[in-house]
Amino acid sequence: MNIEEYDCQFCGKKAKQYCFAAFVCGSEECIDKAREERGGPGGHMKKKRTEPINIEGNDK
Ligand SMILES: [Zn+2]
Repeated sequence: MNIEEYDCQFCGKKAKQYCFAAFVCGSEECIDKAREERGGPGGHMKKKRTEPINIEGNDK
């Protein structure tokens, strides 16, 4: 895999690394964004908690 063939998913510059399941340039900002998209240090647990509760269908 040649990372330089890819662009940073956040700012569009040439990617320099692949981390948190995203291609990112060398910028810390973009790496942070990649980390957040993946759910941060808490991972999927945090993401689950912030999901809106679906109350549709309860009103029958
Ligand atoms: Zn970037």
